Amino acid sequence: LQGARVLVTDPVDDLLLEALRAVGAQVDYRPGISRGELLALVPRYEALVVRSRTRVDREVLERAGNLLVVARAGVGLDNVDLEAARERKVRVVNAPGAATQSVAELTIALMIAAARRLRESMELASRGVWKKVVGVELYGKTLAVVGFGRIGRRVAEIARAIGMDIIAYDVVDIRGHAEKLGARVAEDLHSALAEADVVTLHVPLTPDTYHLMSWEEFKAMKRGSILVNTSRGAVVDSEALLWALNEGVVATAALDVLEHEPPATEAEKRLAQHPRVILTTHIGASTVEAQRRVAIETVRRLLEALAE
Ligand code: NAD
Repeated sequence: LQGARVLVTDPVDDLLLEALRAVGAQVDYRPGISRGELLALVPRYEALVVRSRTRVDREVLERAGNLLVVARAGVGLDNVDLEAARERKVRVVNAPGAATQSVAELTIALMIAAARRLRESMELASRGVWKKVVGVELYGKTLAVVGFGRIGRRVAEIARAIGMDIIAYDVVDIRGHAEKLGARVAEDLHSALAEADVVTLHVPLTPDTYHLMSWEEFKAMKRGSILVNTSRGAVVDSEALLWALNEGVVATAALDVLEHEPPATEAEKRLAQHPRVILTTHIGASTVEAQRRVAIETVRRLLEALAE
């Protein structure tokens, strides 16, 4: 990276900037840069570092005549046009695994918050109203883990310790992992949904998983179940979820992600206001530890990519 010009367009840990400078890169830190500015500036750089906000699509890549590598300081690559990058021989790296524990912990937190109706109790407390809300235990309940990759498996492991029964669904062969973690493997998505008291989503956002949870899937779910989504907002069809909440199919939805952040559509705005929705601001990987790991891993992979 000696002398390489690196543009960082999303907020990242200081450690990442320091590490880039330490290896001799010329870093321009422009978190929150507008689309117009990005298009104007990107031709000057050899490397681009983004998180989930910046869209690195074909138009950006076509402008970026000097670009050698795009680094996603995090996991999901759904904001990068991988096809266009491949065509232009731009390498794409990310930091898989760096945020696994943080996202898994948030998922469990959301699950418990939903089961114990923490949002309602906290709202009562903040108004000085000392009334009890009645929740349910997770112990003995069935958890469907949709997407049994790094995060899904870690969630399953922690949920096992709570005493949950796990049913895992994935599109690849997960029998070995499932056996090791004491999880059953579902034949298909709908059968997993039909059995579960809690459903948690851990798939990447791809054309195949866009609105994976839609009307038919909510109809397949048990009445009164909990839905947790810490993957990507667009994995869930917001309109269908709103319907499921209002029908009582979903008792509580706990979401760290929405298709548009902040909420943009009517359905998303109604979800954000819904008394049985627990919503956080895409904080799955936002811990000191995860961001440090992401920083180290991203710089390591950037160096590897440039050395090839
Ligand atoms: P991973 O690649 O290890 O696991 C994803 C799993 O999903 C894989 O096993 C894959 O086979 C499976 N899958 C793909 N398509 C599927 C489908 N149609 N149906 C069922 N399973 C399918 O990824 P990971 O590290 O576990 O991360 C999962 C996702 O979590 C990421 O892609 C990212 O979008 C999201 N994430 C969110 C945050 C956050 O801040 N909330 C942070 C990090 C990651």
